[in-house]
Amino acid sequence: MKKLLFYFFFIIILIFTMPIIFTNKFKTEEVVSEEVKEEVEEKFDYGQYSNIRLLHVDTGEVENMDLDTYLYGVVSSEMPANFELEALKAQSVVARTYTIYQIKNGGKHFPVADICDSSVCCQAWISKEDRLAKWEENLRDEYWNKIVKAVNETKGKFVLYHGEPINALFHSNSGGMTELSINVWGGNFPYFQTVETSGEDAYTSYSSEVEISKDELIKRMLEKYSNFKINFKDEKCIEILENR
Ligand SMILES: [Zn+2]
Repeated sequence: MKKLLFYFFFIIILIFTMPIIFTNKFKTEEVVSEEVKEEVEEKFDYGQYSNIRLLHVDTGEVENMDLDTYLYGVVSSEMPANFELEALKAQSVVARTYTIYQIKNGGKHFPVADICDSSVCCQAWISKEDRLAKWEENLRDEYWNKIVKAVNETKGKFVLYHGEPINALFHSNSGGMTELSINVWGGNFPYFQTVETSGEDAYTSYSSEVEISKDELIKRMLEKYSNFKINFKDEKCIEILENR
């Protein structure tokens, strides 16, 4: 009889607790699937860009290589290896983003290549062999490992705008303030805005001086503005209207 009562209570308890157990189980599954969905939506799929076709400007040869190998050559060429590791990592993220943007949007060398190795055209690149040869022998391992670490530790990281890689142009020095892209190339990119960039004044090329004769100034201005006139006797003939 006692055994029967025990089973009776066990079944009653089971009837009341089963819906709770199942409801909780389903709730948990729902939450998990939502989290996974969000993660997938936010993650940029870059797997398809794991190889690039690099054009060597000097020889005209197009070389295929994997993205990371290419980035080691870019970062070690664009930034001195004795810079802070975090700076090299930032450079890695920007170089990766710029590269993917070029591939995705058919850069200057499409369809022959994805990108070239010239800093004045796309972004600089140097082979490991040439790079090592330019460093002092006792620093070679340390420097190369630092570059590899910077690229590897930022693997899969990009600068995105509305889920797409930005045209991540970069410079070594902007003279204290960046310029709107529309004033430089005419392209209007919403993520390129004028911002102050403090801390650049220690850079050796932060400011420069150019000396020009009066005649040369008139000649150059007339080339651009045919109705240009100037009276050098007037103290205010040249005025700084805006500091940028
Ligand atoms: Zn190029």
